[in-house]
Amino acid sequence: MSLSSADKTPIAPTALTTIVTTDLIGVTRGRSFPSDELESYRVAGCGWVPANSALTPQDVVASDNPWGSCGDLRLIPDMGSRVRVPNGPDANAPGLDFIHSDICETDGQPWSACPRTLLRNEIQRYRDELGLEVTAAFEHEFNLGYLDPANSHHAFSLAAQHHAASFGGWLLSALKAAGVEPEMFLPEYGKAQYEITCRPIQGVAAADRAVNVREITREIARQMGLDISFSPKLQPDGVSNGVHLHISLQDQAGHPVMYSPEQDNGLSTLGQHWAAGVLKYLPALCAFSAPTPISYLRLKPHHWSASYANLGQRNREASLRICPTITIGGKSPAKQYNLEFRPLDATSSPHLTMATVLMAGRIGIEHKLVLDASADESPDTLSEEQRQARNIVALPGSLSEALASLRDSKELFEQLPKLLLDAYFAVKAQELKSTQTMTPAELCDHYARLY
Ligand code: GLU
Ligand code: MG
Repeated sequence: MSLSSADKTPIAPTALTTIVTTDLIGVTRGRSFPSDELESYRVAGCGWVPANSALTPQDVVASDNPWGSCGDLRLIPDMGSRVRVPNGPDANAPGLDFIHSDICETDGQPWSACPRTLLRNEIQRYRDELGLEVTAAFEHEFNLGYLDPANSHHAFSLAAQHHAASFGGWLLSALKAAGVEPEMFLPEYGKAQYEITCRPIQGVAAADRAVNVREITREIARQMGLDISFSPKLQPDGVSNGVHLHISLQDQAGHPVMYSPEQDNGLSTLGQHWAAGVLKYLPALCAFSAPTPISYLRLKPHHWSASYANLGQRNREASLRICPTITIGGKSPAKQYNLEFRPLDATSSPHLTMATVLMAGRIGIEHKLVLDASADESPDTLSEEQRQARNIVALPGSLSEALASLRDSKELFEQLPKLLLDAYFAVKAQELKSTQTMTPAELCDHYARLY
């Protein structure tokens, strides 16, 4: 049988679009199809499997998960969240094209273990019950080219910046193309440590943006053949990689409501209630924001991360930091004013963390909680009596402690769907089991490869 001439036409790679979900452990997964068939996936999305939400960072399906091999779901694309980066430093690499999704049942009902739906619902509660909008930005620190001994420059130096200038240039262009509105790419304190920041945005898009930053940063590194890790600690005694979540609230007219010029620290009464709620539930929130065994090598004093549940002004060892506002050039402090949540790292799901922080803040507003856990100095420099007098508690020392705190925090616990909690506890139990014999150094090596 002879081939027709048409059969000999050279083929070209098919452009693919991926519908993604970022799961409970902050891993972005999905399914791809030819981009020119997008129309047929727009309404009903693509198939998905419940047990995918029971995967541990070790890529094992947690044994105690609620679903086993049963069930079917759909990933429904949120078309406005599409990310496209047509090209990058490797001219032969395919472009990035993915769309965030909400997970639904096959009849279109929302699936209660979907972290993006959880965040969407919480933001809707802020709007409906409090008349507030939420604006947020995530800052990310990571290590780049850290396996190369030549990549050893002074902290924050021009040399460190220049070492990664080509990477930084591609990264900013790719983020811009993806609509992420990048702000800065900067060398950090640690060897081969860098940071990328982007502008704040309202609603669910803020958490999507955190995912976009992680995925695009990894993709540019992959294309340039550079090793990269967002893991909170690469060496037990090394400098840590944090993720910092900046949050502000606005009324329906868009006016900032966290700021009051009458207060010394600028925090309005509503802002104080919100902060008090977050601080009250902080040990439990760590189960989501610092969700892996290695997270607790970072949540220690002198890491510029956080080790106590306190509000602090202009102090980077506070869990909740009042960020500086600038008045140079007549800038308005109200518009810049925001609180930074610092006990957070990139082993967490941005959607789940943002949703649970918002829940805690909402409880604070609903109960008009009083803000007492405040200290502008580093809390570890206070005596135990001084901390007790201000109601400043230590953050959990381990993931197990954080999970226990979550179980004990009835009011926060009850805000969360049972299915999501069942899956989460199953995943974390399995993860703890598989890492329990690892030394800190082994944990560092292990998680550096996973995140
Ligand atoms: N690397 C620190 C952390 O683990 C943060 C340093 C900074 O304030 O930029 O959170
Ligand atoms: Mg930093």
